[in-house]
Amino acid sequence: MKTRITELFGIEHPIVQGGMQWVGKGELVAAVANAGALGFITALTQPTPEDLSKEIARTRGMTDKPFGVNLTILPTLKPVPYQEYVDAIADSGVKIVETAGRSPEPYMPTFKAAGIKVIHKCTSVRHSVKAEAVGCDAVSVDGFECAGHPGEDDIPCLILLPCAANKLSIPFIGSGGFGDARGLVAALALGADGINMGSRFMCTQEAPVHNNVKQAMVDADELNTQLMNRTLRNTSRVFKNEVAGQVVAVEREKGTDLKIEDLAPFLSGQRGKVVFEDGDVDHGVWSAGMVVGLINDIPTCAELVSRIVSEAETIIAERLAGFAA
Ligand code: NAD
Repeated sequence: MKTRITELFGIEHPIVQGGMQWVGKGELVAAVANAGALGFITALTQPTPEDLSKEIARTRGMTDKPFGVNLTILPTLKPVPYQEYVDAIADSGVKIVETAGRSPEPYMPTFKAAGIKVIHKCTSVRHSVKAEAVGCDAVSVDGFECAGHPGEDDIPCLILLPCAANKLSIPFIGSGGFGDARGLVAALALGADGINMGSRFMCTQEAPVHNNVKQAMVDADELNTQLMNRTLRNTSRVFKNEVAGQVVAVEREKGTDLKIEDLAPFLSGQRGKVVFEDGDVDHGVWSAGMVVGLINDIPTCAELVSRIVSEAETIIAERLAGFAA
């Protein structure tokens, strides 16, 4: 399948594995790249910019295909030296960056000077248009269904993607709720040039995540996610578990008096990291999208990507062509 996204990034299939904190490591990113899709190392999963440089080099040892680095700029419990991460990315020779959370405008001169193509992930049409205006090469338009940070507008992809298509000139992919061939075909029909998948790639053989987490996603249905941290306008969609319930209970109890200090002991990413390492799915909060309702197996990345592409071609050639006949 050739789209503006496959052309822009020099990849075989219009499928992207975007940034996932604690998950976007070399093993997964290389497996995605070797499957002909585009994977992103998650910069902040690496404790320092130097570790990020090493992770990029390690990934290069596992694939000769294109891959990128995700840089998420959102409130954090500890300050992050963003410019140092940006410099590490630029110096590494990586040519694709996914930004998220805030406008990448301050870092665009560094990225552009290094010949880097920037795809900005955002949750609204207005931020997509801004991304185009500040020189991004593509946008990842992230609907309400997504894992992690869906923004505060709550617009699902069925509306968000065609609205974005009406306003954007640069290529864009749909993100949030995608996990199979039906989603890919739908995204293309809605005007997107491909899809981003997070949760679906997290549930693959190569994802560096404990098997209990993958099995919990397989066992889950579409009702098994929960929104939290709404009160502080930094909403996160996470897997519905005990700790997520505790966060929401504190939010209800404190109401408008709520401060990040009230939630920090529950939602710290350090606890989520332990979930992925040890497999205790109730140890902390961890991101998961509504698409868990469509995840029923733990394939390799190669199996997953080739299945989605071949089934999408069949849907287009048989089911859709049948309606047009
Ligand atoms: P962390 O431990 O610093 O914070 C945990 C959560 O609390 C994060 O969602 C963070 O955004 C939120 N938070 C922290 N300080 C806040 C404040 N002052 N007000 C409101 N919310 C606040 O973060 P982490 O888990 O180590 O993650 C590092 C980075 O990766 C953060 O930017 C985080 O948002 C991002 N992240 C992204 C995804 C995703 O799906 N894209 C998932 C997890 C984390």
